[in-house]
Formats: sequence, structure tokens, C-alpha cells
Amino acid sequence: MSVMVYEEDIPEGLELVGDIAVDTETMGLVPQRDRLCLVQLKDESGQVALVRFAANVSFNAPNLKRLLSNPQQTKIFHFARFDVAAIHQWLNVWVHPIFCTKIASKLVRTYTNRHGLKDLCSELLGVEISKQEQTSDWGAHALSEAQLKYATNDVLYLHQLREKLEAMLKRENRKQMAYKLFEAIQVRAQLDLTGWGDEDIFAH
Ligand code: MN
Repeated sequence: MSVMVYEEDIPEGLELVGDIAVDTETMGLVPQRDRLCLVQLKDESGQVALVRFAANVSFNAPNLKRLLSNPQQTKIFHFARFDVAAIHQWLNVWVHPIFCTKIASKLVRTYTNRHGLKDLCSELLGVEISKQEQTSDWGAHALSEAQLKYATNDVLYLHQLREKLEAMLKRENRKQMAYKLFEAIQVRAQLDLTGWGDEDIFAH
């Protein structure tokens, strides 16, 4: 596996193959307030690209934006709702198409309420991952080895999780519902960004 760290964009001509696992690290949980610090990408060949955004940069990342909106390459997230909103807020692009392992898990693993990435890796893949650096300072001038390792870890297992969850969605006849929900993530993220974060707009 190769892990490369880039500043502000992926290089022109960098070839990331097939569907792409994506995660982001930000300064916090409010996209309008908390800037995007890192976008992690992993392709089907195992290549990992970490894209760093330092403070006060322009977020002009044409190659990354093209990849994130390329209809030929599905972007696999865990809890896409947050990352898609943060990416739109800072990079001004809507990610498309999307597979969200958290939504898929909620649709098929109805025997549990544990749908964290750690839980899925443990149960479906037998892999124990650490969530220790989750709340670290992603805006720091230099990211630590531990941070880079953690950031990489968050995209490492998403392809394998999608495979397991797709099989379960098929088995339980919930694939169509899942894909309709993935299509709806954009409007859900839009609601988050425009002030309907906590409200269930479908509620009576
Ligand atoms: Mn992460």
C-alpha cells in the first residue's frame, strides 16, 4: 500500500482507479464554522492519497473536485452526510455518486444499534481499529505520524465493508431503498447547511 500526502489538490494525472473510499477531517462538527483540513482517498488498487488544506488556502482543487463529482466513480463513505456537507461548504462541489456504509448498516444490521466504523470493522471484517485521534487538532501545521495513520485507517476498510453490506442489502431486499437513500444524501446535507440540521422535515 502506498500513502502519499499532497497539499491543496491531487496532482494532475494522478490515476485513482475505480470506486474511491473517502473521508474528511475538519476542525469540528459545524461545516460553516469548522474548516476542512484533510481529505483522505483510497482507490481499488490500495493507493492512498491524503490531501491537506492549510489555514487560509483558496480551496481551489480542480483535480480533486473532478474526482469527487465524476459519475463513473462511486465515492464510499462512512456517514457521508457529514463529509458531503463539509466538502460542499469548502470545496463547493457536490459529491456524486455515493455509497454510505452507515446507512447500509442501519438498513440491514437491524439486530444492533452499533453502526460506528469501529463496530462494522470488528463485526464484518474481524479488524480492530482505533478511534483515538478522532478529536485531535487537524489544523496543525504538521500532522503527526499518529494522525496520518489514523486518517489512513478511516478509508482503509470501506471497500471491503461495502462488499459485505451490499451482499446483506441484496439478501434482505433493501438494495433499492439503500440506493434511493444515497441519492438523498445531497439534499440531507443541504438541509444541514441551511439550518434544518436537527429537524425531521418529514415529521408531522
Ligand atoms: Mn475520519
